[in-house]
Amino acid sequence: EVKKEDGPILMKRYDASQISEKELLDVLQRPSQKSNDMIMGIVNPIITAVRTRGDAAVLEYTHKFEKATSLTSPILRAPFPQSMMNLPQETIDAIDISFENIRKFHAAQKEDKPLEVETMPGIICSRFVRPIERVGLYVPGGTAVLPSTALMLGVPAMVAGCKRIVMATPPRADGSITPEVIYAAHKVGAECIVLAGGAQAVAAMAYGTESVPKVDKILGPGNQFVTAAKMHVSNDTNAGVSIDMPAGPSEVLVVADKSANPAFVASDLLSQAEHGVDSQVILIAIDLSETELKAIEDALHEQAIALPRVDIVRGAIAHSVTLVVKSLEEAMRLSNDYAPEHLILQIKDAAAAVDLVENAGSVFVGEWTPESVGDYSAGVNHSLPTYGYAKQYSGVNLGSYVKHITSSNLTAQGLRNVGGAVMQLAKVEELEAHRRAVGIRLKWMDERGL
Ligand code: NAD
Repeated sequence: EVKKEDGPILMKRYDASQISEKELLDVLQRPSQKSNDMIMGIVNPIITAVRTRGDAAVLEYTHKFEKATSLTSPILRAPFPQSMMNLPQETIDAIDISFENIRKFHAAQKEDKPLEVETMPGIICSRFVRPIERVGLYVPGGTAVLPSTALMLGVPAMVAGCKRIVMATPPRADGSITPEVIYAAHKVGAECIVLAGGAQAVAAMAYGTESVPKVDKILGPGNQFVTAAKMHVSNDTNAGVSIDMPAGPSEVLVVADKSANPAFVASDLLSQAEHGVDSQVILIAIDLSETELKAIEDALHEQAIALPRVDIVRGAIAHSVTLVVKSLEEAMRLSNDYAPEHLILQIKDAAAAVDLVENAGSVFVGEWTPESVGDYSAGVNHSLPTYGYAKQYSGVNLGSYVKHITSSNLTAQGLRNVGGAVMQLAKVEELEAHRRAVGIRLKWMDERGL
C-alpha cells in the first residue's frame, strides 16, 4: 500500500563506472516477490477444490474474490448478445484497427509449406505445423479493463486455427464482464468466457468442469496467484496442459543518449511505472551530463505528479534506477544481462543498435516508438517474458499456438543407406528389437534382390 505524499518522484542514480560489478547486480535486482511456497499454499487447495467439485467450487471463489454473488453460472457462451458489447464508436474503431494490425503481423508468421530435407538419398525428413486444438486465454481483471490482452492472446489463436478458444476473466461485482473484452472475444471467435479469475479460472480450464471446456494450453498474464496456478497445472501430468511462460511484474529498460528528448524518455519510463507498484523501470544513460540527467529527472517528476495513478508510480519508482554509462556497448551489455521485457532505444542510430540486442522481450526503436504502440496497436504482441526470462523465452507469437510435427519417409534404398548406422547404434544401446526392425527389412530386400 503506497501513501499519497509529497516529495520528489526520483529514480536512484548510479554511475556504473563508480560501483563494483556486484553492486551493479544488486542495483538491477528485480523487486522480490512473495515466497513461492506461500503462494502455492494458497493456490493448491483452490486447484483441488475446482478439480474435485467443478463449477460449484469455481462459483464459490468468484463469489468470494470478485464479490459477484449474483452469478449462478461460471460461463458466458457465444454468440455474445449485442447488448453486452455496446461501445462508443471510437472504441470499436480502436479495437478494430489494433485487431487488424495484430492479425497481419501474426498471419505473416505462418509457415505455409512443410520443411522438407533429403538427409541421404532416399531419406526424406519433414516438419509440418498443426494448431493446438483448445487454448485457454487468461485476461487479467482486478480493477483494470484489458481488451488489449484479450486481442493479444486471441488474435494469434484465431490466426493459428485453434479450433476452440476459451477466454477467462474475473467478472465485476455485478457479475458482468467489461463490454470491450466481450467485443474482443467475439472478434477472435472465442466460444465462451469463463467468468472467474485467479487459480480457480486456471484450474477450471486445465481440468475442465461441467460447464468449462478443458483446454490443452493456457496463455496469458496475471498476478502471482494466476502464475502459481499455471505452474502447478503444467506440472501435473494428469492435467495434460502446458503454459506460455512463467511471469513476473512488468518492466522496461530505456537506453538514452544525448540525442534523446528528456520528456519522451520520462514518458516511456512512466508508462511502465503506472502498471503496478511492483513494476520496475531502468534508465541507462549513455554519457549524459549532470544537466541532461537533471532534465530527464525533472520531466519525470513533473509528468508523474499529473498522473491519475501517481501513487502506483511512486511505488514503482522507489525501486527503479538510472545507471550512467560511458558507451553504447556498455549500455547494451547491461541491458542484455538484465534481459528486459521491454527495451526502448532512444539513441541516435537506434536501428543499428538492434544488432547488439541479445536478450529482450520486445524492442522499441527510436524516438517515435513509445512502448504504448506495442502495448496496443502496432501489431507486435504485448505478452512478453518478464523477470529476466527473456534470456530463454520468446513472447507470445504464432508459434505459441501450434505444434511442430516431424515425419520421415524412406525408400528401400534409403533404408539400405542408413540401416547399418541404426543397427550399430541399437547394438551399442543393447536394444535388440530396434536392431531387428531394420535387419528384418534388409534381409527381406536381400532375398528378393532389391
Ligand atoms: P488478476 O486477474 O491477475 O487476478 C485476480 C484474481 O486473483 C482474483 O480473481 C482472485 O482469484 C485472485 N486473488 C486475489 N487475491 C487473492 C488471495 N488473497 N488469495 C487467492 N487468490 C487471490 O488481476 P490483478 O490481481 O488485478 O492482477 C493483474 C496482473 O496482471 C498484475 O500482476 C499485472 O502486472 C498483470 N498485467 C499484465 C498485463 C499484460 O501483460 N497484458 C497487463 C496488465 C496487468
